[in-house]
Amino acid sequence: MNDAKLLRVAVPVPLADAFDYRWVGDGPRPAPGTRVDVPFGRGRRIGIVLEWPTESGLPPERLRPAGAALDGEPLLAPELLETLRWAADYYHHPIGEVLAHALPGLLRKGRPVASRDERRVALTESGRAQDPRALGAKAARQADALAHLARGPATIGELRDAGIGLAILRRLEEKGWITTESAGLGDDCEGGAARPSRASTRFEPPPLTDDQRAALESIREGGARTFLLYGVTGSGKTEIFLRLVAEQLDAGRQSLLLVPEIGLTPQLVKRLRERFGEALAVLHSGLAEGERLAAWRRARSGEAGVVVGTRSAIFAPLVRPGLIVVDEEHDTSYKQQHGFRYSARDLAVLRGRRLGVPVVLASATPSLESLHNAWTGRYRLVEMPKRIGAAGEPAIRVVDMTRNPSRAGLSTPLLDAIDRHLADGRQVLLFLNRRGFAPTLFCPGCEKVEECQRCDARLTVHAAAGELRCHHCGATRPLKWACPECGAERVAVGAGTQRVDEQLKALYPRVRIGRLDRDATARKGALDAVLAETSRGETRIVVGTQMLTKGHDFPNVTLVGVLNADQGLFGTDFRSDERLAQLIVQVAGRAGRGDAPGEVLIQTHYPSHPLLACLLSEGYGAFARLALDERRKAGWPPFSYLAMWRAEAAKKPQVAAFLERVRDAARHGSVTVLGPAPAQMERKGGLYRMQLLLQCGERPPLRALLARLVAEARTWPESRRVRWSVDVDPIDV
Ligand code: ADP
Ligand code: ZN
Repeated sequence: MNDAKLLRVAVPVPLADAFDYRWVGDGPRPAPGTRVDVPFGRGRRIGIVLEWPTESGLPPERLRPAGAALDGEPLLAPELLETLRWAADYYHHPIGEVLAHALPGLLRKGRPVASRDERRVALTESGRAQDPRALGAKAARQADALAHLARGPATIGELRDAGIGLAILRRLEEKGWITTESAGLGDDCEGGAARPSRASTRFEPPPLTDDQRAALESIREGGARTFLLYGVTGSGKTEIFLRLVAEQLDAGRQSLLLVPEIGLTPQLVKRLRERFGEALAVLHSGLAEGERLAAWRRARSGEAGVVVGTRSAIFAPLVRPGLIVVDEEHDTSYKQQHGFRYSARDLAVLRGRRLGVPVVLASATPSLESLHNAWTGRYRLVEMPKRIGAAGEPAIRVVDMTRNPSRAGLSTPLLDAIDRHLADGRQVLLFLNRRGFAPTLFCPGCEKVEECQRCDARLTVHAAAGELRCHHCGATRPLKWACPECGAERVAVGAGTQRVDEQLKALYPRVRIGRLDRDATARKGALDAVLAETSRGETRIVVGTQMLTKGHDFPNVTLVGVLNADQGLFGTDFRSDERLAQLIVQVAGRAGRGDAPGEVLIQTHYPSHPLLACLLSEGYGAFARLALDERRKAGWPPFSYLAMWRAEAAKKPQVAAFLERVRDAARHGSVTVLGPAPAQMERKGGLYRMQLLLQCGERPPLRALLARLVAEARTWPESRRVRWSVDVDPIDV
């Protein structure tokens, strides 16, 4: 048994380690990255071979035999497999679950990856012009094929079933009588790589501005490194990376482009399609399983020269990678907040380095981490400080809410401004980070506020639906205006997007008003409709949540109102200042993108708050320097490294006991342990939540400690009574 052939296999189960099996098949051992069918517990699972170990922790005779390999060649290239293994290690997440993130659901379920059989073959014009009978007896089978295809296109698989094999099809292809969809007959996903389709030639990009030319030059000559493309909104950043993508395509290489949310950026996808046509593959969570697999295959075969997608697209397979772009790199959606808590932005930098390709992080409001990396020379900084349009920078004004009357969250100066911009035929965007009608239902009789029974949170009034809803656990209750305690008529206090929407409709009965929040866009197609109506100029005022801030380009919008800046001013998170500054600059960037100058009004009760003052008088860069200075003094990232250990359970003592044990086990090292402390919202969905923060000036000791603690904690009885997770580089603390 000593020369047993072993396989180490990742199985998608919530356990850290991979599992060893014996390979008893006739053929060679399946290579790392290949799917294998393995026995697991009482059932069978599809795992992925990680490596061929020379020995196992268990004696070979105790190892179970692996079943058949599902793939002739590895599904995951060594580069991608290594990246995923690194990520599992770095984020302390089970390798099987990490690998599952990289594969489309159908492949996880065992669907064969080979797709050649599914490709469609059709007659060309000259093929149609042939008379099968004239081909003669020697080419009888070619004649059969032509006759078959004369009835319509067929897949390679269907043709083979009809007795027409690849050899015949190849001959017809050589003669130019047939065409094969996508990569042609020669290449299969199983084997070689297809060349990416060329960019569509119809497209004529605009001539570059001097700033753009300089930026492009700096990236081109910088080679394979990480760039921070820091340019104000409307400075032409997108155009820069579209040019870079086009250059890669011309050189036969693929680009991976990460965006925060596909649904919110139809304009970017449209621009990509216009320019790259068939070369584009889109990967996002809204795809049906079959579509996802198809896009994944096109990325893997190299046929897709441009792969655009959200967070998880960072794991897209690429045969001929040339470039990685992360658009709006500061966006928090790049960090997965549950399960495998990876940062796609950080992994992009890592994967780019591994692949030896340039990585471009782009934003008008880069994260302080990335700015710090750029300012200290780890990334190359490429700046674009000027807008392209004739409009220039918008004028930003603060509205002091302590001195101005307001109704439903709209102050008089803001309403005056709305009047002016509407009279000029312009459009208005109003931002309010709070959906629903009102955040509070208050009883003036007994002074009680209606709260969720399962969370430490108030219930939000959803007047139109006649409901009270918890925005944290989703609980709902019928809305009753009479107080159940004292019978007094209760009032809705504060304003959410619905209330602002209603107020505007009352004030501007003849103006079309749109709402962009999770409630208004829940119905399929609703989001696209609001965006399209705004693009066409039919909707004159749009009120919305964060959804409004993401990269929209509506040239006729000249006024932007931030209804409540105070929500972000006094956050408990050390990043709340950064978030608010990004949000204000991003929404402000929606104003005046065309030729007319923009105006931005920010409503606040704290008009002289130092953050606002610095941001508005000196801009985001100055704010960032100030904020980084504070972080340095306080020892927060990027001047230290963090990991958050969270736990929750129905019973509070169990949560405390578990995290106290973690704390005790974590002591006596260079890592600072803070807590355990109740989470920001201590009770959510009926569970008590606590957290323990680990902080260290260097990464390696923190990583080593976590590796040890995670392994130990899995064996503790306390760990079975709670739900716990480790969050490396948390973005919420
Ligand atoms: P950003 O990504 O920095 O917000 P974009 O690349 O979207 O900027 O450019 C802003 C606007 O300017 C878009 O409408 C775009 O089509 C246009 N634009 C970009 N580059 C040029 C250029 N060189 N000449 C003319 N218009 C341009
Ligand atoms: Zn709740």
